[in-house]
Amino acid sequence: MGLGHTGLVDAEVVVIGAGAFGLSTALHCALAGRAVVVVERETAGSQASGRAAGLFKSVQADELRTRLARRSIEKAIGFAGWAGVPLEVTRPGSFLIARTAEHRELLRRELAESRRWGADVHEASRAQLAGGLGYYRAAGAEFALWCPEDVYIEEPVWLVRGYLDACRLHGAVVLENEAVTGIPVTGGRVSGVETALRSIAAPVVVDAAGAWARMVAELAGASVLVAPVRHQLLITAPAPEVNPADPIARIADAAVYLRPARGGLMVGGFEAGPLPLDPREQAASFTAADVPLDLGVLRAMADQVAAEAPVAASGAVADHRGGLLTMSPDGRFAAGPVPGLAGLWVASGCNGSGFSSSPAIGEALAEWITSGAAPPGMTALAPGRFGRLPEDVLIRRGLWEYAHFYDPVGGAPARS
Ligand SMILES: Cc1cc2nc3c(=O)[nH]c(=O)nc-3n(C[C@H](O)[C@H](O)[C@H](O)COP(=O)(O)OP(=O)(O)OC[C@H]3O[C@@H](n4cnc5c(N)ncnc54)[C@H](O)[C@@H]3O)c2cc1C
Repeated sequence: MGLGHTGLVDAEVVVIGAGAFGLSTALHCALAGRAVVVVERETAGSQASGRAAGLFKSVQADELRTRLARRSIEKAIGFAGWAGVPLEVTRPGSFLIARTAEHRELLRRELAESRRWGADVHEASRAQLAGGLGYYRAAGAEFALWCPEDVYIEEPVWLVRGYLDACRLHGAVVLENEAVTGIPVTGGRVSGVETALRSIAAPVVVDAAGAWARMVAELAGASVLVAPVRHQLLITAPAPEVNPADPIARIADAAVYLRPARGGLMVGGFEAGPLPLDPREQAASFTAADVPLDLGVLRAMADQVAAEAPVAASGAVADHRGGLLTMSPDGRFAAGPVPGLAGLWVASGCNGSGFSSSPAIGEALAEWITSGAAPPGMTALAPGRFGRLPEDVLIRRGLWEYAHFYDPVGGAPARS
């Protein structure tokens, strides 16, 4: 594989987008011995992946996602062993907390299911919750799960950097500040990608363009059904009640997550009235930095847990960031081959868990691409599973999945 500054080059796999999904897929393809080129419009990890909270969650809504989440935790912890470069992972575990009768029921169900699917999850005693979280004053009536497997990566760019270094170590080429502008199709199959600087011939092209995945698929005349939706978080100034060793806390009824960060507290959440934002309707120069942030939304979410976690609601804001999630109509990833267009693959539909699921999604996709056989369960994530959907239905379902991130069962919107 030769890469001059301009002109034609060849690869076996071209990945579009150097976020968590794209870099992980590229790395795993390189580890499988493939000649890989990643093409990134901005800089690696500069969009959703570099803005993530860095949280990994072992309790998931179904068996496949539980397996992918736990495999990802295992791969993150053991990163140096398989990727060949170090990665710092904080392993404090997490509490999943419910303060309403409805959410207590939900967590009881999740406890039983998650244990059946292999996750290490337990009911937390009142004493364990009261003594285990310095920044959260338990009222005493909560029902809580203790999830010892849960981890986080303090700064999301650490995972991006790990993937990048590992990609280069294993021979993948990563081109930055170079947008894919065309995906030629010949005889019903893609033949590579085009940028302003060069054409890259390849039998396999992976669309891992995040919130731009639909735009990129359309370059090949294909359709990828994901709805980009804003997500934001804040980090408070350092506060004495936040012990850096404290676990993660997720308060299911408020749809709020908390964790120690930079000496303060990270506060994020999934609001009931989320904001859809389609880059196809924005200026060509639109990036995550242009996503309109709204501190009021985060403050309103933090107010819901003000009694238990006062620093979340009243701490001075040291950082406020956001970006776009790619929501799919059923809340599951869109990962696999695009039907009807040989050679085009998709890694998208992050549904708010793309950062933390990227190690296992990249591994599974690379296995599928290089062996031709779908790893167990992965056909359930095939990007063509929605058929044709009217735009308003896609967005309505995506927004529902966003607003129900912590309680995905019950009350799903009409499937039409
Ligand atoms: C505030 C916030 C907090 C979050 N917290 C978590 C969390 O705790 N845990 C978790 O698992 N997930 C979290 N997420 C979600 C997570 O960030 C995403 O699921 C994940 O980053 C998706 O990765 P990606 O590779 O699909 O997208 P991205 O990281 O956006 O990467 C896509 C890349 O494609 C590039 N691209 C687009 N068009 C082109 C083109 N034409 N040519 C070349 N390149 C192109 C873009 O520039 C971009 O870099 C959070 C997201 C946000 C915004």
